[in-house]
Amino acid sequence: MKKAKLNKKILIISLCILFLIINTIFILFTFVPKIELKGEQLVYVNINGEYKESGALATYHGKDVSKDVKINGKIDTSKEGSYELEYVIKEGLFNSKVKRKITVKDIEKPNIELEGGNEVYLCKDATYEEIGYKAIDNKDGDISDKVKVDIDKDFVNYSVLDAAGNEGTVTRKLIYEDIEKPTLKLKGSETYTIYQNSNYKDPGYSVSDNCDKNINSKVKVDTSKVNTKKIGTYEVTYQVTDESGNTESIKRTVKVIQEPVYPRGGTIYLTFDDGPQQGTTNVILDILKEEGVKATFFVTSSGPDSLIKREADEGHTVALHTATHNYAKIYKSTDAYFNDLKIIHDRVQRITGQDARIIRFPGGSSNTVSRSYSKGIMTTLTKEVVNRGYHYFDWNVDSNDAGGANSSSQVYKNVINGLSKSSYNVVLMHDIKPQTRDALRDIIKFGKEHDFTFASINMSTPMIKHGVNN
Ligand code: ZN
Repeated sequence: MKKAKLNKKILIISLCILFLIINTIFILFTFVPKIELKGEQLVYVNINGEYKESGALATYHGKDVSKDVKINGKIDTSKEGSYELEYVIKEGLFNSKVKRKITVKDIEKPNIELEGGNEVYLCKDATYEEIGYKAIDNKDGDISDKVKVDIDKDFVNYSVLDAAGNEGTVTRKLIYEDIEKPTLKLKGSETYTIYQNSNYKDPGYSVSDNCDKNINSKVKVDTSKVNTKKIGTYEVTYQVTDESGNTESIKRTVKVIQEPVYPRGGTIYLTFDDGPQQGTTNVILDILKEEGVKATFFVTSSGPDSLIKREADEGHTVALHTATHNYAKIYKSTDAYFNDLKIIHDRVQRITGQDARIIRFPGGSSNTVSRSYSKGIMTTLTKEVVNRGYHYFDWNVDSNDAGGANSSSQVYKNVINGLSKSSYNVVLMHDIKPQTRDALRDIIKFGKEHDFTFASINMSTPMIKHGVNN
């Protein structure tokens, strides 16, 4: 009995001690702050990349104390290696900590860039030929030479490994389909001018296609809208569709204009170049006035302003030759030509108030002398002057007064032998030549006696043009 009583006592005491221990642990536990990592415990960061801190969650007595967490340790993302960060929370007498491991290394894949894009259209029966690619790695730089290319039916697979073993891949899709339009271009000018009742002859086109080899036979030219019997503006259309159904179309404007009417017996346009010059031009003006004949003067920067003023005042056409008439200077370049032309244009405008638009190229548009200064410049200039609103005139009757005709009788013969009754006659002369001055009266007399009409050139006079030789 005594023994049993003792046992019971021990049991009670033991239970009390146990209760105390549990209680103490519980109390201690509530006084220790708790901490746990946010994010992964093992983190990989790309070399030269950015480490993003996820932080740690700390609680104390059920309260969030994360802001009190101190982080110990440093990471250098420019150096490969293993780093450790320690997160510590200290509250009262107790503290808790956790750790995170960070590994800095090259984890970025190399990037392969495809020239010509990731989708390539090819002609139906074409064989793919590599267009090109570039592989760049964040750490290794250009590793294009390590790229492996594998063609698999309609795909080209490209792969490359960087030194750290990261693999970059890209696929190019091959589409065997022609989606490109044919190229269709007009031969001749976009706007074509013809006389009423003449025949429209299409200047043609040029065509090419990336895939279709028989494209030339597929162009349809529709000139049906052009009515040369009626004055107006018409359109000629050109259309072509390649074998894959890609269509291109272009247009040409055709202007049908009234043919200028010339007086019966031919017209003579007397033209005088290179002046003015005192002693010749003034006498020529006197003769023209007495004979009641109008002419055209292609002036330069020489001579007195008063003669140019007289030319305009007496109803002649003041046209432009160039300021300097210096081949080496004016035919050096397009800009040089137009700069020079502007000088004489401005001189004429200053003296006469007229915006002169009629010009003659020194040496004519057929000159070959310009070849020495700029190849092909006459081809360019003859188009460009028209684009800029000028009309240029060559000649079809040459007095040769700047060549071999040194006497007035030679000048006279050359002119009258060159005149035609069935057409209009643009007569080249130079008002700086005494023999021309002296031949003029007889030339006019001959013209009048043979029923020619004299006229000065204006903007509706059809351009007399030579063939261009440079
Ligand atoms: Zn000249």
